[in-house]
Amino acid sequence: MSFGFMGKLLRVDLSKGIVAAEEIPEQWKRLYLGGAGLASKYLFDEVPPDTDPLGPTNKLIFMTGPLTGTASASASRYSVVAKSPLTGIWGHGNSGGSFGPALKRAGYDGVIIQGHSDKPVYLNISSGYAELRPADNLWGKTVPETEDLLKKQASGKVTIASIGPGGENLVRYAAIMNNKDRAVGRTGMGAVMGSKKLKAIVCSGKDKFEIADPNNFKAIAKRQIDLLDESMLKVGFEAFGTNMVSDMVNARGGYPTLNWQKGVFEDIEEVNGMALNEKVLERGVACFACPIACGRGTKIKDGKWAGHEGEGPEYESANMLGASCGISDLNAITMANYLCNEYGIDTISAGSTIAFALECYDKGILTKEMTEGLELKFGDPDIVIDLGDLLAEGSRIAAQKLGKGAEHFAMNVKGMELPAYDPRAAKICGLAYVTANRGGDHITAFIEGPTFVDSPFLVVDDSKINDPFVADPKETKVVVDLENALTAFDAIGACKFMGMLLPASEYVELINYALGWDMDVSEFRQAGERIYNLVRLYNQKAGMNRSHDILPPRLMKDPLPDGPAEGMVIDEETLEMMKDAYYEFRNWDMATGNPSKQKLEELGLQ
Ligand code: SF4
Repeated sequence: MSFGFMGKLLRVDLSKGIVAAEEIPEQWKRLYLGGAGLASKYLFDEVPPDTDPLGPTNKLIFMTGPLTGTASASASRYSVVAKSPLTGIWGHGNSGGSFGPALKRAGYDGVIIQGHSDKPVYLNISSGYAELRPADNLWGKTVPETEDLLKKQASGKVTIASIGPGGENLVRYAAIMNNKDRAVGRTGMGAVMGSKKLKAIVCSGKDKFEIADPNNFKAIAKRQIDLLDESMLKVGFEAFGTNMVSDMVNARGGYPTLNWQKGVFEDIEEVNGMALNEKVLERGVACFACPIACGRGTKIKDGKWAGHEGEGPEYESANMLGASCGISDLNAITMANYLCNEYGIDTISAGSTIAFALECYDKGILTKEMTEGLELKFGDPDIVIDLGDLLAEGSRIAAQKLGKGAEHFAMNVKGMELPAYDPRAAKICGLAYVTANRGGDHITAFIEGPTFVDSPFLVVDDSKINDPFVADPKETKVVVDLENALTAFDAIGACKFMGMLLPASEYVELINYALGWDMDVSEFRQAGERIYNLVRLYNQKAGMNRSHDILPPRLMKDPLPDGPAEGMVIDEETLEMMKDAYYEFRNWDMATGNPSKQKLEELGLQ
């Protein structure tokens, strides 16, 4: 009996048109837990690091965690892993909503998509039975159109993950969308799906998995909901969603503005959580079994986009499509967010790449001839439009193509556009961006919680950062601990926001009651560390080393011009000092930045 898991995967070979179920090796469950952990193990074993991300030998791996679809608070998540077309290394996106639980109810813990179909297809999975069906009528449709058509075609209730024109056209930061507005957003997993001509996965069914000790599991799940109910953070999330942090980040001088030329946005009151509530909010939206509902169900009420509705913008999207582009018109930002969701592209990379183009135009690197007569200006709300092929590549490749110093304005790490927290105003964030396994990312370590918004993470023993303006080598251990713990969250299927509110012991109890294990907190953390090292090893084989753990030149050379962090950069010496300390805590080789033999042996990776 395999508690917590459905116990099987669906392997889909699009080149051969074959679908087949297979068992998950039992010993992998405890070592890699599930979700992104298990998916990364499959990637490591089956996808050579020199694989063309948009070629048939790449594999697109959907995986739920053992808590996905249980009654535990906010355990709705699933992960998608493949080699990334945006970064050329390990790619990973994670989403909530209800697709993860639906995949399990359809009979499978995960799906591995391999090969390539000549014609558009979608995968239908229903109560353990799976088949590929033609999707010619869906190709070219937006995400909501695709979902609506598939729901009309279905005989009962279905839950769908699909791509829009972004994925079909191989935009390197294309997303996979579920529940229309929830995104497997980062690293271009939608482009991998598009390269395989797979338009959607449609799930239905009521299959169940066993919980080892259902009574105790329910009691702990209930206790967690009671604990959450007492938390102030829950109140903030419910009231403002993730936009509750806008004012705090701006007040610290780390709110990226005009493509990171500034860290303070004068018009913050036009775009903060309060403004969003007043202008566009209709309702909070919750993922499966989440008592928080941090999602924003919104509608544009006036102006030229009046009547459009959907979800978002979340904090990151509001900044990248807003202040980063110099835009303070919340209707325009919200509309841009809807378009990203409909076309299936990542809002962070899209906004950041547009902001990059605006600055290149401003500096004369990009000209009117190159934009087919389009004038690109910071602050122009109509700029939320398709800027063409150049931007589909993301800021790194676009900068390489443009040359003339454009790299200075491309705000990415390892090719992935940075999130909306300027590390010049919180040095340790800079370290977390360069060590994140999927490229410049905030939720790998989530160090922005303790630095920018005064929110410690209870899931690690100590996440305190004394003075974010100061780079303290001792505090790099917080990044290590958070990366490990939150990697375990992506594996079990839990929402990382819960890591702020609940200690690791709460999750270990849940896992043990769900799976019948006797895991302790240190084994839980070590599983996260094992996955983290496995992925670093994959990236190493794909050509990464210490020299690639580097920030965009602007953050190291251009001082912030205003706000509390005025005059600050993260100079190279400071970054290298933090990397030394971090590698030491990780027991990675100081010269190469790669896991030491001893560490790999300790984690059973050699
Ligand atoms: S806290 Fe927000 S993102 Fe997390 S599960 Fe709940 S609604 Fe989804």
